[in-house]
Amino acid sequence: MRVAVVGGGAVGVTAAHDLAQGGADVRLYERDEQLGDTRTRPRDRVEGSSHRAAGVLAPRPTDAVGAEIASRALDRFEWLSERDHRFTVEPTPQVTLVGADAADKQATLRETVAAAGEHGVDVACHDPASIADRFPALDFAGVGLAAVTERAAYATPGPGAYVAAMADRARDAGVDCWTGVEAGISHRGDGPRVDGERFDAVVVAGGGWTKRLLAPTGIRLPLKPYRVQALVAGADYEGPMVHDADAGVYFRPHPAGLLAGDGTVPEECDPDGWEPGGDDWFVDGALDAVANRTAHDAGADAAWAGIATATPDGEPLLGEVESDLYVATGWHGHGFLRAPATGEALAEQVLGEREPIEAYAPGRFEGVPEFAVEEGMSL
Ligand SMILES: Cc1cc2nc3c(=O)[nH]c(=O)nc-3n(C[C@H](O)[C@H](O)[C@H](O)COP(=O)(O)OP(=O)(O)OC[C@H]3O[C@@H](n4cnc5c(N)ncnc54)[C@H](O)[C@@H]3O)c2cc1C
Repeated sequence: MRVAVVGGGAVGVTAAHDLAQGGADVRLYERDEQLGDTRTRPRDRVEGSSHRAAGVLAPRPTDAVGAEIASRALDRFEWLSERDHRFTVEPTPQVTLVGADAADKQATLRETVAAAGEHGVDVACHDPASIADRFPALDFAGVGLAAVTERAAYATPGPGAYVAAMADRARDAGVDCWTGVEAGISHRGDGPRVDGERFDAVVVAGGGWTKRLLAPTGIRLPLKPYRVQALVAGADYEGPMVHDADAGVYFRPHPAGLLAGDGTVPEECDPDGWEPGGDDWFVDGALDAVANRTAHDAGADAAWAGIATATPDGEPLLGEVESDLYVATGWHGHGFLRAPATGEALAEQVLGEREPIEAYAPGRFEGVPEFAVEEGMSL
């Protein structure tokens, strides 16, 4: 079986690797010159999101499919971390904080934590006073409710290291990697093609470019790329990963000190036309939130943006869109932490070893519904 994978981010390299391991003859197309890197912060240019992610691996799935994907992804991250010296998974609990006055957010946090707990996630709500001794790096003033996800981690030196490590494994498994190639997709009656060449199956793992990549086929995806942001500050922070739900900011330890993020701009952007630097309002707000919750008052050493992808119901688009043409996108800012499992699930589907995941089926909508990009990380 000859399979083309278009897009060499975390999802594409995983799918390519797993397809080759499963016996397929795989060619991977990536328009960037490189598959992954070991940088701790991204370049100042438009590029794939797997180079620009914050590397937070703190899933809190609220349904069975999400729980299976999240758990499998963490297992595979840990497996790779034990075997590849370039990529490390640092186990660190994640603490979510909601203000004493935010009754609605507290109720939502309790609901999502209960649902995640029912699906096997090691997470619980706490009175902030009861966990203050455990997390001395944090100031819990004004916090009404906290939740701690115990099995969480972050990727270091950066998310690109996962891509680099998996790409090497993909090459070892026989994947033919074509980098520096901007591929074009078509689908005539006889099946999918890349740059005119017919393959038995084509997987489009083009992140925020996926809708544009499919446009020549006439397939319209309910998908919107939008900007999200992160920064690195030289603060000497060694506490847990934190999601401050009131401030709309998360932060975690980083080799250079501390990484903070979110900065969602809730509107569709041109995947090739976004500003790669961080916005002042995001930098100021994120650093304020960090100063509020920790003893650190450092300035930003670097701030950047990248694209995330939204769908009408917040679930991914993973599966077949036309005969033998598959997509994997729509991660709502959580595509890196799921990539080892979503890439695998799609590979298994293409190889006929797994049934499609119905909740993620790209054709589950009536036509192409109108929808708004949701603001910020949801609780
Ligand atoms: C600032 C920021 C912070 C984030 N933090 C997190 C986080 O902490 N945890 C998390 O889980 N997620 C996070 N995300 C989201 C995460 O980065 C993405 O969901 C994930 O990287 C998507 O991976 P992907 O492989 O689907 O897409 P990408 O990594 O974007 O890969 C798509 C690839 O397709 C290539 N491509 C496009 N067009 C073509 C073409 N015509 N031919 C060939 N190649 C093409 C692109 O160059 C790109 O490399 C963050 C994102 C940003 C921007």
